Amino acid sequence: MRIKIVAGNWKMNKTFQDAEELLNEIAEGIQDIELHNTEVVVCPPSPYLELANDFADENHFFVAAQNISDKDSGAYTGEISAMMLNSMGINLTLIGHSERRKYFSESDEFLKNKVDAALRNDVVPIFCCGEVLSEREAGHHFDVVRKQLDETIFLLPSEAFATVIVAYEPVWAIGTGVNATPQQAQEMHSAIRSWIGEKYGPAIAADTKILYGGSCNAKNAAELFSQPDVDGGLIGGASLNSAEFLEIIRIAAGQ
Ligand code: PEP
Repeated sequence: MRIKIVAGNWKMNKTFQDAEELLNEIAEGIQDIELHNTEVVVCPPSPYLELANDFADENHFFVAAQNISDKDSGAYTGEISAMMLNSMGINLTLIGHSERRKYFSESDEFLKNKVDAALRNDVVPIFCCGEVLSEREAGHHFDVVRKQLDETIFLLPSEAFATVIVAYEPVWAIGTGVNATPQQAQEMHSAIRSWIGEKYGPAIAADTKILYGGSCNAKNAAELFSQPDVDGGLIGGASLNSAEFLEIIRIAAGQ
């Protein structure tokens, strides 16, 4: 049975003091939840990674970066690398979030280099994919997502691919309050899983975690997470409030 993952992407939000408060509330709240087969991930802004990791160590959640460089080290001012994350004991990172693709012009070719950088430093990519509204309206959403995967993580050999977590995030659902319906999420997740099966075989397809992201909150999480191919969520706005984030964790854990 696949585990469920609830990952909170804080994006560029929170002061240091607010971050400390939120981490504290999550750390305390999580103690009262029987996580069973659920893992919790917090993706804070990079200046707060170490702080988050201090909380995580004691409180059964994991920390992920929101982004990494495609390089390990060198003259790349402002960047953070997977090598640095690894040296801090952080072994997860988002890669390819639609905001990186849109505002920082990150292409699939470039994202593949980031995936390679993560994997060569033992950092697991949570690889984001998803179509924009016009692509869905034109009926091209399956082709768009397939191409995003073909040009990135589907280029990995089996052993490396088997470690990757996929996040399907329709761009039109991110931060809009309009989530994909559970049926829309399920049909894309099921398509992704069947492509993985064709490329890497049924065992890897059955084991790959595929998260849903896009206006997922405490009201819609139960229905989304109950879909057979939805293995939890990548949560943006709703992860900034501890009560709501903890409620989503409870839902994933079946409580
Ligand atoms: C995200 O940033 O990955 C996300 C899904 O955001 P939101 O939940 O706010 O739509």
